[in-house]
Amino acid sequence: MTLATVAVLIPVAVDRPYTYEAPSALELAAGDVVVVPLGPRHVLGVVWDEPVEDIDRHRLRAVADKLDGCIPGDMRRFVDWVADYTLSPRGMVLRMVLRVPEAFGPEQPQQAVRLAGPAPDRMTPARRRVLEVAADGLARAKSALAAEAGVGVSVVDGLFKDDTLEILEIDPTPPVALPDPRHSPPALNRDQAKVAASLRDTGSGGNFSVTLLEGVTGSGKTEVYFEAVAAALAAGRQVLVLVPEISLTAEFLERFEARFGARPAEWHSQISGKGRERVWRGVAAGTIRVIAGARSALFLPFPELGLIVVDEEHDAAYKQEDGVIYHARDMAVARGMIGRFPVILSSATPSVESRANAARGRYAHLALPDRFAGALPEISAIDLRVDGPERGRWLSPPLVAAVEETLEAGGQALLFLNRRGYAPLTLCRACGFRFECSNCSAWLVEHRFRRELACHHCGHREPRPERCPNCDAEDSLVPCGPGVERIAEEAASLFPEARGLVLSSDLVGGIAELRSRLDAIERGKVDLVIGTQLVAKGHNFPHLSLVGVVDGDLGLATADPRAAERTFQLLQQVTGRAGRMTAGGRGMIQTFDPAHPVMQAIVSGDREGFYTRELESRERHGLPPFGRLAALVVSARVREVAWNRARQLARAAPAATEIRVLGPAEAPLAVVRGRHRYRLLVKAARSADLQGYLRNWISSIGAPSGGARVSIDIDPVSFL
Ligand code: ADP
Ligand code: ZN
Repeated sequence: MTLATVAVLIPVAVDRPYTYEAPSALELAAGDVVVVPLGPRHVLGVVWDEPVEDIDRHRLRAVADKLDGCIPGDMRRFVDWVADYTLSPRGMVLRMVLRVPEAFGPEQPQQAVRLAGPAPDRMTPARRRVLEVAADGLARAKSALAAEAGVGVSVVDGLFKDDTLEILEIDPTPPVALPDPRHSPPALNRDQAKVAASLRDTGSGGNFSVTLLEGVTGSGKTEVYFEAVAAALAAGRQVLVLVPEISLTAEFLERFEARFGARPAEWHSQISGKGRERVWRGVAAGTIRVIAGARSALFLPFPELGLIVVDEEHDAAYKQEDGVIYHARDMAVARGMIGRFPVILSSATPSVESRANAARGRYAHLALPDRFAGALPEISAIDLRVDGPERGRWLSPPLVAAVEETLEAGGQALLFLNRRGYAPLTLCRACGFRFECSNCSAWLVEHRFRRELACHHCGHREPRPERCPNCDAEDSLVPCGPGVERIAEEAASLFPEARGLVLSSDLVGGIAELRSRLDAIERGKVDLVIGTQLVAKGHNFPHLSLVGVVDGDLGLATADPRAAERTFQLLQQVTGRAGRMTAGGRGMIQTFDPAHPVMQAIVSGDREGFYTRELESRERHGLPPFGRLAALVVSARVREVAWNRARQLARAAPAATEIRVLGPAEAPLAVVRGRHRYRLLVKAARSADLQGYLRNWISSIGAPSGGARVSIDIDPVSFL
């Protein structure tokens, strides 16, 4: 008798499934989540639908158990596809799917508590409050009861001992109610209605397509893509709305609820263990119909996915830079292709790649040229060579005057500087010593509110000393250049009456604190916002009428081939926050180079001109989307080890007519977390098989020694 065997992919750094004996009692089928022995351990795995390897049957080990849950066929093909495209081991991609191991056991019933007996002998004010809440006889989760009564859980626990409360088990409530596509359709204006009709067709059709939805900020893109969501829901499909993590605000959830009568389920890094488990189960069971989530939501096991919307599709936050290096926008398109359903990419400032795909007819292109309410802001440049601030100050007289005017008129103003902390560099006036990170080749950034110097690359922090560590001089340390904290300080001295608020990703209190600050801005409880690029991300600030960009040139001073595109997008997005709901919004950009094509395009509102020029220049240089790029970063603790490995790699690069290998060159960030880094850049024609070339090349050079690592980044976004 021959043994039945199965291929099982395991979430570790291997590319091929392993072969196991399949006990007939388990009735295994492709997609089943199983437990298998691996060395001395037992690990999770998924039955993969491919032929098993021919191995020695006597050494075969058996699948130990089958769990709840199934990874649908489309999802398995997606794992294969992502691994193939990014050159990652398939096991590592599967790992992103199996991140919620709790979801595979039987679901625990929820425990609830309810009033059962007489009041306890010993009564306290806290106990009385609990009993008042519980008096309605309803069953509640223990923590909910404690929270409602405003007491600690221990007070509730005490009441069990006295038999005043009892515990019962109830079926877990689903995390969200079902959205109703007919709940509250919007009244659209003419442009919107046309686009919405087209999107509705797209959303209800069961075919693969990609649509670029382009419209200025405030034109109603969200409003109209909701119509595609409605159509997909009505057609019985599940929907995924991808958003940059930070854009998933209360405002977005409330808007969704207003349209569909229920919130979408959320998926991002702040969802806790139990919440993640319930969302994972709900998606797998099909009881959750819409997910609004960050990029990792792509790896949820939707059985009936029928539409993905990628909001703010140009956002660099969609690129995952460690582990499996992938771009969520591009993977969303692949997911749609595999699942044969539509994908919508939405942005006010589309990526040059998506624009090119639209121009070539590979993507449909829908446009909303006008704001729904209000008008586009009036943008101007402030020439710092002429109108610059005095030494040691960063806000120019024309900008200060505009802020004053805005505040006097009761409006809200935003000062934008894409740099966290107080100052990007601290040096000693006496000896010239500069504070540098001990792990990275980067200056330490002063964070004055925390009284620290911090490295923005590895997270290293140290207290800001009183004396120079080099020459021991006292009071000799001076900050160089501004960060948002320094701008906030200057603004506070200029506008002492204004209610100011800093918005930056390194706030103590994390995302919860950020959301509450965003909320305060939306509700007009703040007069003057000082923020980093966080403020540019899709938020609706109805009271904002002036945006001042402190350093418009900041993003242009890099060797990054996307510097112009990114600066254009950022400046357009951030100035686009002004006057969203009212007319008379203004954007002012401080720059030393007002003649720069990016500044010109922003000031004159000439988007088409910008995209045309940028596409021409990319084509001339064979850059994406006209050619393809891959970056190889070689790193090691010892500089020579990294350098030698990088040289060895470069020498081993196979000759190919359509592919060139540049480098190695020391990375702009030469050391990160104590690892020395060298970069190679691979430039390929569009028609070349870049992945095949890389696979062939990497496998030809043998295992590294001395702890050297090579990471491969297909379609790199960062060139540091
Ligand atoms: P975008 O996503 O393009 O920035 P939004 O969809 O957020 O634009 O719309 C901007 C603002 O205008 C929102 O407050 C939205 O509620 C409002 N709005 C847009 N279209 C309509 C409409 N047809 N009816 C009512 N309000 C609308
Ligand atoms: Zn560092």
